[in-house]
Amino acid sequence: MARRVLVAGGAFAALALATAVLAALRTHEPFGAPTAPAQSEWVGVVHVHTVHSDGGGTLDDVAAAAREAHLDFVVVTDHNVWAGQRWQYREGSLLIIGEEVRVPGGHLLVIDGEDPRGRAPEWPESMLADRPRPDPAIAAGDALRVVAHPQGPGRPWLIWDVRHFEAMEIWNWDTDWRNDSPWDWLRALPLLPFEPTSALARLVDRPDSSLARWDALLSEAPIAAICSVDAHARVALTKNRFLPFPAYRHLFKLVRQHVLLDGNPTGDPDHDGDLVVEALRGGRGYCGFDGIADAHGLSVEVESGGTVAGLGQRVVWADGARLRVALPAIGEPTTLTVFRDGVVIRETSEATLDLELFGPGVYRIEAAVRPEALSRSLPWIFANPVFVDAPGG
Ligand SMILES: [Zn+2]
Ligand SMILES: [Zn+2]
Repeated sequence: MARRVLVAGGAFAALALATAVLAALRTHEPFGAPTAPAQSEWVGVVHVHTVHSDGGGTLDDVAAAAREAHLDFVVVTDHNVWAGQRWQYREGSLLIIGEEVRVPGGHLLVIDGEDPRGRAPEWPESMLADRPRPDPAIAAGDALRVVAHPQGPGRPWLIWDVRHFEAMEIWNWDTDWRNDSPWDWLRALPLLPFEPTSALARLVDRPDSSLARWDALLSEAPIAAICSVDAHARVALTKNRFLPFPAYRHLFKLVRQHVLLDGNPTGDPDHDGDLVVEALRGGRGYCGFDGIADAHGLSVEVESGGTVAGLGQRVVWADGARLRVALPAIGEPTTLTVFRDGVVIRETSEATLDLELFGPGVYRIEAAVRPEALSRSLPWIFANPVFVDAPGG
């Protein structure tokens, strides 16, 4: 019995390795070019590691992959170090350099910090007792702080005081794939050499516990949601050899952060980077699993008393309000779910919705898609909320 398990395990490992090698060697896969996005909608990925920490590629490799995946921006966050001194355009994509810092609560992405080193974090002393101080110290000031892999098996997030962060990863590739069973991998592996992004997409699960946590936080503060690739392009084979898997380009096509820029990009990296960071901070946008179906062009708005609010924005309840949603047209069966304060209030297979609301609250939508080739639905869109405030509140 043990021997049979061993043989099966060995065969599985060999198959996994062979398909991973094939996938890594493949240089190109067909993938739809983005449908023309609204001028203010940008797509990018958040949380990428390079050779400056435990990633397998250089900034040039990241830029080349971003170009192939049609990304407008990439947020690079190496462990406790900046991968470059300046934000910059490379190969047409904006590289925003941040870092992933180890703090008492876990791992925190720090983006747009003034100085990544030497400044003390704003943690209560009680929380720092018995724990190592971050090294180097976390950037303070008005940096955007994002809770990384809150449910990660290795380093889950521990301190849920909303004064310590502005955003959280509700989904993280590195957490998701570690939670998948060998069966999930067996189903995905045969596809890996031929359609790597589709293969990875089949491993995507709805992050139930992170979403529940986020819903609870939203009752306290407007914490923005981000889905991150946590891309390393590196699987260690031996001490000195590694496989660049999953390739940056495959992850970059799988899940993207769609941001609604409140201003026009000018080509200046600092200016344009600020637009992206403010959109991430303000929850002006949504996660789109574009490798499952192209999520460009989602429209969500609440209208109340003649005022219209979009994702991340607020409107005051004025004796009634309407929520209007239009999912991107993809020609496959979808499910659109509306949440009010974390509770499902509507679920529909229609791609558009015009819903009368019955009171103030935090309203957000999710969408799932059921690709024809699959027998189950996959997560597709997680949108940041629209806040409907009580009058005088
Ligand atoms: Zn981490
Ligand atoms: Zn990371």
